Amino acid sequence: MSDNLRPEDRRRTMQAVKGKNTSLERTLFSMLVGMGLKGWKKNVGDVPGKPDVVFDRRLVIFVDGCFWHGCPTCRRKLPVTNREYWERKISRNVQSARKVDKTLAEMGWKVIRVWEHEVMDKRKRGAVRRRIRFAKKEDIRQDGGWISKDRARTPEDTE
Ligand SMILES: [Zn+2]
Repeated sequence: MSDNLRPEDRRRTMQAVKGKNTSLERTLFSMLVGMGLKGWKKNVGDVPGKPDVVFDRRLVIFVDGCFWHGCPTCRRKLPVTNREYWERKISRNVQSARKVDKTLAEMGWKVIRVWEHEVMDKRKRGAVRRRIRFAKKEDIRQDGGWISKDRARTPEDTE
């Protein structure tokens, strides 16, 4: 097999091709446990897009694989063989993720998307935790929007 990949990239690509990296999901789940968060479920099939994590208060988390979703930070190399196939596949993934986000938003769900590299890189996990904590603090408004419980006034009040 000849391609343009370094052994390291090839290994990661093959991992990505096999499906969702289970260690990625495990890392996310243990982060949530470590944050002391309760009331969430893994891989709920009946929510659009099958999010990795579903909280009871209409909040979901997706971890997007850097290869599968064409992460602009990691810029994983595509196999040279069937390159067009991979390009199409990844662009379809990106499009369908956008569609899922839109559907969930219309249903009144809040969506957090994190990149695989943000979960797998210890130094970036702090930022992921902050995003999740921030989202958990928000509550749904009557108009379907979200408002932080910490805020005494809605943003509209300040205008
Ligand atoms: Zn990435």
